[in-house]
Amino acid sequence: MINVTKTYLPSIEKYKKYIDKIYQSGWLTNGGELTKELEVRLSQYLGVKNVLLVANGTLALQVAYKVMGLKGDVLTTPFSFVATTSSLVWEGLNPIFVDIDRETFNINPNQIERKITQNTSAIVATHVYGNACDIEQINWIAEKYNLRVIYDAAHAFGVNYKNSNILNYGDASAISFHSTKLFHTIEGGAIVFKDSELYEKAKRVINFGIASPVEIQEVGINAKLNEFQAAMGLCVLDDIETILINRKKRYNFYAEGLASTEGVYFQRRNEEASLNYSHFPIVFETENILLKIIDRLKVKQIIPRRYFYPSLESLPYLSSRQETVVSGDIAKRVLCLPLYDSLEHEVQEIIMQIIKQAILEN
Ligand SMILES: *Cc1c(COP(=O)(O)O)cnc(C)c1O
Repeated sequence: MINVTKTYLPSIEKYKKYIDKIYQSGWLTNGGELTKELEVRLSQYLGVKNVLLVANGTLALQVAYKVMGLKGDVLTTPFSFVATTSSLVWEGLNPIFVDIDRETFNINPNQIERKITQNTSAIVATHVYGNACDIEQINWIAEKYNLRVIYDAAHAFGVNYKNSNILNYGDASAISFHSTKLFHTIEGGAIVFKDSELYEKAKRVINFGIASPVEIQEVGINAKLNEFQAAMGLCVLDDIETILINRKKRYNFYAEGLASTEGVYFQRRNEEASLNYSHFPIVFETENILLKIIDRLKVKQIIPRRYFYPSLESLPYLSSRQETVVSGDIAKRVLCLPLYDSLEHEVQEIIMQIIKQAILEN
């Protein structure tokens, strides 16, 4: 079975060495040595400051909203993983959807201002498939209306924007290290803060708000990464360059193979940003062709994913019905093809053959 992604597993001998260390120290969580080491190595590798490791990417978003004290309405994108919206709802915030740009699939910066009201406290935007948002325009709007900006950078590991890591933009960026992501710690994530005070506060908040053994400063939660997760992260980080090279080859093989296929459309990438080869999304003319292709791939035991479907404005638990036409349309027609470091050439050929054949017959 070929899935949309396959978790990268590093050398088990290396992982065991770290596990031995954990056994020797008897320290399994609560900011242990390995968690500290991973935090330092990630800040160096990515070139970012104020990195806080957390239990997962969803909590990264929630803790970021919490420490900023967001209230009321938050402008956000309907074209993302469900956690971008559910994290807001879970924190008692009201997601207000701004439609996406038809070509970049990111929040459409030209439609943000018209949705701002007295109740708006922030913008939460996703760098979809690692494609940088229109950071300048979002920043300009946020300054004009005094709004916070939080980026859901779950897909954007290692992406640089204008010679700086993309996580350096906005008031905070949240990233996921779930096993399905490019870099992983089994489950895990991180928040990168612009402001060191918020970072210090978040450090307490992810540990119940505990400031010292005898002082609890604010309402907190448990969002800590543990040592076994950190150990996995350290092993995967050692291999990240090879992972990236291998993904790049496969990404380019698809890109070249499908470049001149009529009826297959690609995301327009932000030219100021580097690629991290996190996903290979393509958009078809109609949902019918997409469904036909999914069926035929399934026969060959190949399972792509409808990332992102459904468009999030259609979630059943939202308190108001909102319409975002472009996101609804793209969500119906977009498919992420299998992409991971060890994906076989022959499998990619089969996938592209099936896609081309299905389109020809249409
Ligand atoms: C994966 C993902 C998340 C959630 O991350 P978890 O670590 O699984 O909680 C949030 N947003 C986006 C865009 C994602 O792809």
